[in-house]
Amino acid sequence: MPLYKAKCSQCRVIMRSASRGELLRRMRKHQMAVHRAWLLARMKAGARRSVVENPSIQDMIAALGEGTRAGLAVATRMRAARYQELKRVMDALEPVLPDHIRLSWRAIEAAHDAIIAIKGRR
Ligand SMILES: [Zn+2]
Repeated sequence: MPLYKAKCSQCRVIMRSASRGELLRRMRKHQMAVHRAWLLARMKAGARRSVVENPSIQDMIAALGEGTRAGLAVATRMRAARYQELKRVMDALEPVLPDHIRLSWRAIEAAHDAIIAIKGRR
């Protein structure tokens, strides 16, 4: 007895399945076969959005090389959990960082925490 039902957002075809995982797998397969360009564009947009909204620690390291302004722009876009992870990484690296990077990071950290205190975390 099919319990789960889904409608394709692109062509309105309806699928039924006894398991949710199976249903999602079949829908993905259908969309990859029939609406390939749309699905790929969607996946690309999702990847782009996640980079803009929650930059990685590597993005931060690269930005630190560019300067304080670039670093602060990256830090303020990070989600709270990743920013905390970044702080732990930077604490561990601090003894080996070149002076200008260490000073830049301290300025970023102070400015970031002040901005979050004023504006609140998204
Ligand atoms: Zn479809």
